[in-house]
Amino acid sequence: MAPRLFNTYSRLLEEFAPIDPAGKAVKLYTCGPTVYSFAHIGNFRAYVFEDLLQRHLEARGYHVHRVMNLTDVDDKTIRNSRKEGKALEEFTAPFKQAFFEDLRVLRIKEANAYPAATDYVARMVEMIGVLMERNFAYQADDGSIYYRIKEFPEYGKLAHLDLDQLRPGARVKSDEYEKENVGDFALWKAWDEEDGDVGWASPWGRGRPGWHIECSAMAGALLGDEIDIHCGGEDNIFPHHEAEIAQSEAVTGKKFVRYWMHCKHLMVNGQKMSKSLGNFYTLRDVLAKGYTGREVRYALLRVNYGLPLNFTFEGMADARASLKRIDAWVARLKDHATTASGEGDMPALAAHDRFGQALDNDLNISGALGELFKTITECNLAFDKGELSPVQARGVLAWWERVNATLAIETDADTNAVPADVQALVDQRAAARAEKNWKDSDELRDAVAALGWTIQDSKDGQKVTKS
Ligand code: AMP
Ligand code: ZN
Repeated sequence: MAPRLFNTYSRLLEEFAPIDPAGKAVKLYTCGPTVYSFAHIGNFRAYVFEDLLQRHLEARGYHVHRVMNLTDVDDKTIRNSRKEGKALEEFTAPFKQAFFEDLRVLRIKEANAYPAATDYVARMVEMIGVLMERNFAYQADDGSIYYRIKEFPEYGKLAHLDLDQLRPGARVKSDEYEKENVGDFALWKAWDEEDGDVGWASPWGRGRPGWHIECSAMAGALLGDEIDIHCGGEDNIFPHHEAEIAQSEAVTGKKFVRYWMHCKHLMVNGQKMSKSLGNFYTLRDVLAKGYTGREVRYALLRVNYGLPLNFTFEGMADARASLKRIDAWVARLKDHATTASGEGDMPALAAHDRFGQALDNDLNISGALGELFKTITECNLAFDKGELSPVQARGVLAWWERVNATLAIETDADTNAVPADVQALVDQRAAARAEKNWKDSDELRDAVAALGWTIQDSKDGQKVTKS
């Protein structure tokens, strides 16, 4: 059964069906950071949720093509680069770099592309030209170009706003959406002194793109006119994503996005974590307190994306304790499995897909983790009673590997897992020994040693450890 996802547009849980007629390829666009400082862990809640979505879709056999943009020109990047007396590019470059490092630390899968807005200005100008031609846009007295929302009757459908209530004639030039009023929004901002040397030529004079057209242009350029899933944090719904729909659909005449998905905010004491409120932690702040990337990942991951998540250091300690429990269980399984030989059935306690089934239900991660911990408890019980054979332990590990491909939370410190190629030789050796073929047995031991692993023979079979 296909996963069911909550679509912000319809406000319904919908069965996922990609545009691809073969039903396999998935085009995913995720709004990325504005690179004027380090991303905070609230931003990373959105990216970790998107990573979980991608990984679960992949676990279900879809091929996900993900694009995440970098907003490297907007009001904030310009203002701050000028404050520091740096060229825009010079100012944003270290924050782009830091962002990629943070993604790695949080084990977020690499996107297929990270387009930067400044590389797509020509396409933005082209789109605005089409919008002007079709009467969806107009030039105001200050020289800026605005989108005429009353020309797009669908405007307001994503955010479930009533167009009649939008103030007629109100215009919004600011990119800082927290402060925006409802109304026509800027597509192209005429140059003024505050922009310094940032600006591009256009048929409407020197200026720069508005934030919303950036995403429409990059999404269209890299994923085409129609996208399967478009994500962001809930603050992106309006006006950013509403504006993206209005721009893209007015240009292409096609449905821009099939499924809109938004995560609720990471909160601090009941308020959204945000730069402007000053109540934020960057990933680096949390790492400096002695937490690891996977602990932060787990802390951000474990609450369903549709619920707000309060950030606290008690929560971090809980995440650490949960991971310790998982680590101890995995280490015990691995230790036991080193003596396994031959094939065996998956033990009943791990012969299920309840973890994946929970995620099929709109990424119900708390349900999925509940299934994981239930399996851990049952497994430890079987261990204690001596009812789990080494071969069965290996089976449970195979189950865990599938689960961890979605969670990506296994400890790095554990390099004791026997790789598949080594295990294959160990299994052959077990077969050779069963046939008392000592020559092959010795050769296989040498082959395993050459790969950096040592075999000890005991009455329980072979024990394999790192040399
Ligand atoms: P920004 O750099 O502000 O454009 O934000 C980048 C991404 O992070 C967007 O998808 C935002 O919706 C998301 N975001 C910002 N603050 C939070 C928060 N406190 N919790 C969850 N997501 C957030
Ligand atoms: Zn965007």
